[in-house]
Amino acid sequence: ENGVVIVGAGMAGVQTAVALRERGFTGPVTLLGAEPHQPYDRPPLSKAVLLGKAEDSAFDVDFEALDIELRLGTEVTGLRAAARELDTEVGPVPYGVLVLATGAQPLTLPGTGGVPGVHLLRTLDDAERLRPVLAAAPSIVVVGAGWIGAEFATAAREAGCEVTVVEAADRVLAGALPAEVAEPMARWYAEAGAELVTGAKVAGIDEGRVLLGDGRTLPAGAVVVGIGARPATGWLAGTGVELGPDGSVTADAYLRTSLPGVYAVGDCASFPSARYGSRLLVHHWDNALQGPRAVAANILAGEPAEAYDPVPYFWSEQFGRFVQYAGHHGGADTLLWRGDPGERAWSVCWLKDGALVALLAVGRPRDLAQGRKLIETGAPLDPAKVRDPATPLKSA
Ligand code: FAD
Repeated sequence: ENGVVIVGAGMAGVQTAVALRERGFTGPVTLLGAEPHQPYDRPPLSKAVLLGKAEDSAFDVDFEALDIELRLGTEVTGLRAAARELDTEVGPVPYGVLVLATGAQPLTLPGTGGVPGVHLLRTLDDAERLRPVLAAAPSIVVVGAGWIGAEFATAAREAGCEVTVVEAADRVLAGALPAEVAEPMARWYAEAGAELVTGAKVAGIDEGRVLLGDGRTLPAGAVVVGIGARPATGWLAGTGVELGPDGSVTADAYLRTSLPGVYAVGDCASFPSARYGSRLLVHHWDNALQGPRAVAANILAGEPAEAYDPVPYFWSEQFGRFVQYAGHHGGADTLLWRGDPGERAWSVCWLKDGALVALLAVGRPRDLAQGRKLIETGAPLDPAKVRDPATPLKSA
């Protein structure tokens, strides 16, 4: 018996291995990871690790005690389903059950590969390369005003760098939030002393400067590109594992892939959400914590036992604020403000057919905790009470 082999030793891969043991799986568990480092947590990379407030963010997991075989520096390059084997540089690895947990890769700006001083922020190596850059405090251009761009800009301002953030869309967080909610969040940039340039495309990067589509030139001692990420699934092309147009492994409700005995979880996988009536590709930490629990339960049961249909959750720390989001909203849902976005703390709620479906909380963790439960239960709410920040959400 070849046991469970997990490809990818990030949050989702490690949590799958741990969850298997926690639930009593006694067969062999092998965790293959391309990176050479002891498995680590990514959220601190754009926060404490970047600023040198923490050396690293290795997971506090005793792999040996859990009898998890950890093979680091091992990139998996191929999958031969008929033989139930993986290919690696050091030879084939057989599997009984396979879990794909290869995460995501940051998108790059075309034409900027290999230009000195252009950075991404996904790995510990990236963060370690950026640390001395921040310490030297050059003027920095950040490309992309998404979650990573905002967090990096926050750290760079804290390190004393001059920061310009260039965003192609007409607003910050364009992929995640409507204009009315993004607008007050854009003001945080100026407040922190970072310049925000929206509606601007990067036309090219030379050493020392960024050229914009409208002819403007920005001085740049360093450039950090944070324009999104794509599932790290290129190696699965032609293996029989079905991939979606977004590059994700299209798992089913039990996180099974199109191949028997093969599961997928975390940033590399999308799944059908009955709760939201659509397929979700979630690139957040909580998904890499909860998904593995369902995968482990299904592997142990040997049959589809636990469907995965979470209320997605994530947080971001930017410009001195704690931002949290739970649920999933669409453009047709009713948006209600809860508090004044000019203040330090406020929330936004999205209602559908009178029930809460999503919530964004800035400095209001209690709203988040209560809202998350309300989203799960789907209880109808009184909009007038939702709008009143003095009324606890759970009493609305
Ligand atoms: P990953 O963490 O990407 O791990 C996948 C691993 O698989 C990688 O180590 C990779 O090297 C390895 N791998 C890939 N291909 C192969 C292969 N062929 N063979 C072997 N190994 C392979 N989320 C939040 O909710 N809140 C936050 O504040 C937050 N901050 C973040 C900050 C940063 C800088 C980043 C990059 C992400 C942040 N996230 C945050 C997102 C969160 O970290 C991810 O959702 C989470 O790491 C996903 O875990 P994963 O295991 O699916 O993928």
